[in-house]
Amino acid sequence: MKLAPKKQVYWYTKKTPTIKKLENNAAADVVIVGGGMAGLSAGQKLSEAGLKVIILECTFCGGGASGKSSGFLTPDSELQLADLLEKYGPEGAVKMRQFVDVGLNLIRDNIKKYNIDCDYQIQDSLFVANSRKSFRKVEVEHQARVKLGYESKLYSEEKLPEILGGNKYFGGVRYPGSFGLNSYLYCQAMKEILEKNGVEIYEESSVSEIMEGKVKAGDFVVSAKYIIVATDHFLSNFNIRKRDVYHAQTFLAVSAPLEDSKFRKIFPNDVTMVWDTDLIYQYFRPIEGNRLLFGAANLLYTYKPHEKKNFADVIQKMRRYLKNKFDLDDIVFEYSWPGMIGVAKDFVPIAGIDPKMKNVLYMSAATGLPWAAALGDYLAGKITNGRQDYDQFFSPERHYPVSNNIQVVISKPVAFAISHGIIKYFK
Ligand SMILES: Cc1cc2nc3c(=O)[nH]c(=O)nc-3n(C[C@H](O)[C@H](O)[C@H](O)COP(=O)(O)OP(=O)(O)OC[C@H]3O[C@@H](n4cnc5c(N)ncnc54)[C@H](O)[C@@H]3O)c2cc1C
Repeated sequence: MKLAPKKQVYWYTKKTPTIKKLENNAAADVVIVGGGMAGLSAGQKLSEAGLKVIILECTFCGGGASGKSSGFLTPDSELQLADLLEKYGPEGAVKMRQFVDVGLNLIRDNIKKYNIDCDYQIQDSLFVANSRKSFRKVEVEHQARVKLGYESKLYSEEKLPEILGGNKYFGGVRYPGSFGLNSYLYCQAMKEILEKNGVEIYEESSVSEIMEGKVKAGDFVVSAKYIIVATDHFLSNFNIRKRDVYHAQTFLAVSAPLEDSKFRKIFPNDVTMVWDTDLIYQYFRPIEGNRLLFGAANLLYTYKPHEKKNFADVIQKMRRYLKNKFDLDDIVFEYSWPGMIGVAKDFVPIAGIDPKMKNVLYMSAATGLPWAAALGDYLAGKITNGRQDYDQFFSPERHYPVSNNIQVVISKPVAFAISHGIIKYFK
């Protein structure tokens, strides 16, 4: 019998955060609520522009989705390039792609500039077909990339085993420009860098109320001309855009170090970050020490309102997958954890200025670390330069596959599940 993995975020084992709490009233030009990828990126840009910034985080920097994530740093989120092309046409797709590249480059440049120790690994992306029929999706992605001038290589069923072992896929598309990282360590490092640059960061300091010109955290008040709310799916706790954001739940596991022979059964030559074509897809990549990071979920849990603590069946599903695809039946998973990803009904982030409080800016449902970083940069640009050039994409006043009126009747989880199903399968 296999031992159950520890329920612990593997990334956290690498560093214990040092916490400084808010213990006085304070004032700044901008207060940012949330110390994840979005909040830290906004904080960086605003402090570089010379503004005084305070960040309030209710756990620790990287304690939300950012630090739990699997660290696939790719411009693709739930929407790949073919989806953007279909939704926005060539010009709009390229514009969105340029947007997310800002986030990708910001993270990469910071790692290099500050020499951040965060298991940074250059890994190409590899999107693989789980059936002959779904190979069409892979082809469409490849065609979109070629059409818009992005590098891409299509692998047939026969050729794929050269780069991904096992012989059980029906082809794939591979492309460069992506990388993997331990995003918790990245957030913790950025926290220290920002503090050195004069940003005040208070952790275990939960914001309970947002008002015009100030926020309340515990017994204290932080006043600021601008407030940025970067709390991902917790945005609804502040009664901002409540109907537009929900979460999707996924689960991760990290294996014990793999012997070289087993590692090579998955990655025969070089390493890639892989995801497949299933609706609730599987995803995996190697991390430091020859460990395998594996992600999966099931439909029953994806839209559950609360974090699922017992997910032994998902771990079983991962084991079955590795057995079926790579004939590996003795992989030991040492760590596992659940995580909630903020999502919109169409997988496009939302961002803007709260209509009720004019100096309160919000962003949510990034559905990807580079998107979160780019949105942080965008909101900073709204404050420093009055940017509006992407408002048309991120305004929540848009058409969703299931309308807000129907959502009221069928419930939020059901509305989001149906919307996502429509987007992924019945476009
Ligand atoms: C398991 C998992 C795997 C993922 N894998 C990937 C991946 O491989 N690649 C990828 O690009 N993306 C991935 N994502 C998605 C990605 O992590 C998120 O889209 C991104 O991190 C969102 O960043 P954020 O800063 O908006 O949110 P968060 O990182 O969640 O930051 C929001 C912060 O706000 C804080 N907060 C909430 N309420 C309050 C309050 N009242 N007061 C103060 N602070 C508050 C939270 O504690 C949190 O730290 C994954 C997500 C999960 C959960």
